[in-house]
Amino acid sequence: MEKSQENSKKKVAVHTLGCRLNFSETGSIAQGFVDRGYEVVDFGNSADVVFINTCTVTDKADSTCRNLIRKAHNSSPEGKIVVAGCYSQMEPEAISGMQGVDLVLGTTEKYKVFEYLNEEEENKVFVDKTHEFYGAASTPSEGHTRAFLKIQDGCNYVCSFCIIPFARGRSRAISIADAVEEGKKLIENGFKEIILTGVNIGEYENNSGEKLSELVRQLLDLEGLERLRLSSVEPNTITDELLEVMKSSPKFLDHFHIPLQSGDDQILSEMRRKYSISEYKKVINKIISAFPEAGIGADIICGFPGETEEQFQNTYKLLKELPITHFHVFPYSKRKGTTAAKLDNHIHHDVKKHRVKSLMMFGDAKLSMFAEDQVGRTSEVLFERRNKEGLWEGYTTNFVRVELDSKENLKNQVRTVHLTSARNGRLQAEFIH
Ligand code: SF4
Repeated sequence: MEKSQENSKKKVAVHTLGCRLNFSETGSIAQGFVDRGYEVVDFGNSADVVFINTCTVTDKADSTCRNLIRKAHNSSPEGKIVVAGCYSQMEPEAISGMQGVDLVLGTTEKYKVFEYLNEEEENKVFVDKTHEFYGAASTPSEGHTRAFLKIQDGCNYVCSFCIIPFARGRSRAISIADAVEEGKKLIENGFKEIILTGVNIGEYENNSGEKLSELVRQLLDLEGLERLRLSSVEPNTITDELLEVMKSSPKFLDHFHIPLQSGDDQILSEMRRKYSISEYKKVINKIISAFPEAGIGADIICGFPGETEEQFQNTYKLLKELPITHFHVFPYSKRKGTTAAKLDNHIHHDVKKHRVKSLMMFGDAKLSMFAEDQVGRTSEVLFERRNKEGLWEGYTTNFVRVELDSKENLKNQVRTVHLTSARNGRLQAEFIH
């Protein structure tokens, strides 16, 4: 392309907050801009359109969104500022009143951003509750070597702390045939690893009428796909059949993310989670029997209303007992409109902070031990990028970050490496000679 042509391209800056699903969706939308002739520039640079895909999972996420909107207006005072996603769905009026905001799009409307940008409408808020399914796959414009394939959206559960069902609506899913087609496209686009995402992907069968295990089986059969994993799966939805299919192929990686939230049965029941501690333990043990070296992540909420020190210690003890390697710890955050927000026994901020800190420190220690245990072994690593120190970085199959010194361009290559040492939960590696 001629340089003058390149310079005349319209520019779009995108920013994502929140979960992997949001990142996957921003990927699809950014690719839509690229297909329409836009150049994607870094957020904070001047752009014709700034697209912010928001999150509303905590109060902090809301205030971060508002800061980002101000930043976007400062860097692109003439640009169109589009605020989309979960926070827009929940608080459209508050956002549309902010200086510089041109369009507010809900969780479904965000995919129609191109149509709305072409309209000279007076109304700048488009938020409805029909919740169709949009945006099956992420794309190269996301800039990652791992592709997120969205197979499900929304949630029919009613966890008492969670606002997501209000923001994303009822659960729905794409068919196996459509998911396989999207998977093929991602492979054609050069991706070697696909991560299946959704809000509650374990509900796939209830939403699509087809089995998640069958979807996984068909994706594993795709030629050119080297690695497949699932993002977060609710423990009560992991079936023996699904585990059998995962185990049947070396392409399925030994890394899982199984939300726990609390290690205390009473708190779990007040959270309206759909499993008990003994059921959670059973699932983790089944995973470890099928994948003995698995890396297992878990979300944990500290300081749910009424959580006593003893109940918190039950969580700590459970995490000590189980082979959970990646802790994702959050303080309980009150969300207006949820059942838990109405409880009158909220925990003091300092107590929550203390509990979060102690679990995070424990999590760091467990991840370090997990990494150290792997020293001396070999692993297949998908390399992603060179870090600031000039080392190539990627992840082992069980999701430990690996660093390797090489002059070769390793981006998007899966290579077998020898894990030589570990430091702060990371592994150092070299090629096998
Ligand atoms: S399963 Fe529970 S925590 Fe997860 S999105 Fe649904 S309601 Fe929220």
